[in-house]
Amino acid sequence: MTYTLPDLNYDYAALEPHISARIMELHHSKHHQAYVTGANVALAAMEEARATDNFGNLPKLQKDLAFNLGGHVNHSIFWKNLSAEGGEASGELLAAIAEYFGSYEAFTKHFTAAAMGIQGSGWAYLAWDSLGNRLVIGQLYDQQGNLAMGNIPLLMLDMWEHAFYLDYQNVKADYVKAFWNIINWDDVAKRFESVKANSRSLLLG
Ligand code: MN
Repeated sequence: MTYTLPDLNYDYAALEPHISARIMELHHSKHHQAYVTGANVALAAMEEARATDNFGNLPKLQKDLAFNLGGHVNHSIFWKNLSAEGGEASGELLAAIAEYFGSYEAFTKHFTAAAMGIQGSGWAYLAWDSLGNRLVIGQLYDQQGNLAMGNIPLLMLDMWEHAFYLDYQNVKADYVKAFWNIINWDDVAKRFESVKANSRSLLLG
């Protein structure tokens, strides 16, 4: 198996009352696991296609890999982005947020609007654009759509209904509001430092 489900750094109940233990358990052990399994299945089917020189099903397999690997990546980041302690953005990350979005408040409004405005299933994200060397906010459709290569995610918010419906039903604004209380800004800052230093060479050599 190429991909495995990562353990969480905290208990399923750790994020209550913002996200319930029941959601966390299902979301991690069932939903995230399904993406891990799906990515491994797609890779195995591609290996079989090469071995038998039969690529008739390849377009479906490529979509399956993109979707499931996308789900695996997104959730792996999302869990690390969360913490019971919460906190506030600070230091160079806060300065960069103000530089690229005008102010921290404007950033939170923009990010919230991105999350609330997703049509169907998807994610809101804060990413480092490795080509422009700048922060960008995006809407990710499903697990893999609507983003540019070279956007390295720093902070992600799952807006699929499975992420909030048991707790918040249709009132997703309250889920997004709760998210701001449980962001692990130390994790986001670590990702920011790493991509700022290293990612441009990935695109430009
Ligand atoms: Mn999810």
